[in-house]
Amino acid sequence: MTSTKPRLLTGDTPTGKLHLGHWVGSLENRINLQDDYECFFILANMHAFTTRMDKPEDIRQNTIDIAIDYLSAGIDPKKSTIFIQSEVPAISELCFFFSMLIPYPRLMRNPTIKAEIRDKNLGDNYSFGFLLYPIGQVADILAFRPEIVPVGEDQIPHLEMTREVARRFNQVYCGVDQHLEDSEHLAAGGLLPIIAPLIGRVKRLVGTGGPNEQGQLLKMSKSLNNAILLSDDADTVRKKVMGMYTDPNRLKATDKGQVENNPLWIFHETFNPDKAWVSEAEDRYRNGAIGDVDCKKRLVEVLVELIEPIRTKRLDFENNLDYVLDVLRDGNERANAIADDTLHDTKEAMKQIF
Ligand code: ATP
Ligand code: MG
Repeated sequence: MTSTKPRLLTGDTPTGKLHLGHWVGSLENRINLQDDYECFFILANMHAFTTRMDKPEDIRQNTIDIAIDYLSAGIDPKKSTIFIQSEVPAISELCFFFSMLIPYPRLMRNPTIKAEIRDKNLGDNYSFGFLLYPIGQVADILAFRPEIVPVGEDQIPHLEMTREVARRFNQVYCGVDQHLEDSEHLAAGGLLPIIAPLIGRVKRLVGTGGPNEQGQLLKMSKSLNNAILLSDDADTVRKKVMGMYTDPNRLKATDKGQVENNPLWIFHETFNPDKAWVSEAEDRYRNGAIGDVDCKKRLVEVLVELIEPIRTKRLDFENNLDYVLDVLRDGNERANAIADDTLHDTKEAMKQIF
């Protein structure tokens, strides 16, 4: 498949199903950009093994779940390529070569790695492969030499590493002068683009739970049991919203409430299209003139309206798994063609074609 459009790559780790954080952090952008970019969406199943090596069945199922989430949310396989990481071996080969270009202490300073170790309770028992995954992600991206990478805020450190690897590769193997600007690398003979992140309209959506020991609200995450899924039915959405964390000091509707740092209002501000209602209700909440329950019920309506059409389409794809698997096989083929090209070119630059 040759295309004149600029290329876009992004994806998800199959550790669960997609949630509202994915929607505002990245998915919404992907759907809107499908016509203007040649899009590649990776299902990073190898990365799922970094925290769940003992759950191969789940990883397989979640890979299919996320493919179905994509299709139901509006990713069109006629326009975009959805593929499975482990089916594209060039990515793993690139990962090995790229791992030489990042000093180990630099990896250990990556703030997302630190946050994941803390928030996913990995203790000191995380595997060597867990530490390798950011470089794996560098390879996922650079194998496709994209122009933009739409992601949530937590991915910024990984994308910065991607830029560092690309600069270093171009300097060491392609003779690019180290004083050149990022934008000049390709014209100066560099092989790898210095990619740009594209952050969604919400950088980091919080989850439905309370703060951690440091007092920070955690991001909504598949692994943290604090997510409202794009596949949740209305009843589940209602239960999750009615049970969500709000202002812990507000015991009755006449108490003054805090709007800031309160997931209830973060969600309204993010998803409720009726901005006038939200700002008026926030004032009433601050003054103790409206109850949590009323505001939560309104939020349930807003979220169900967003999620229900996606969920309904999902049912069709769940009943037609052969079609979904065909989409993935076709995607793998297209992805391999591009990644093999990059691998060949990198080996050539590294003098390793024999
Ligand atoms: P896991 O818990 O396994 O890390 P996750 O929910 O963080 O899962 P990922 O597959 O790691 O999801 O992330 C996929 C993409 O979605 C990334 O670009 C990430 O930044 C974005 N994303 C995930 N959660 C959020 C969120 N709460 N807000 C904004 N963007 C998010
Ligand atoms: Mg994550």
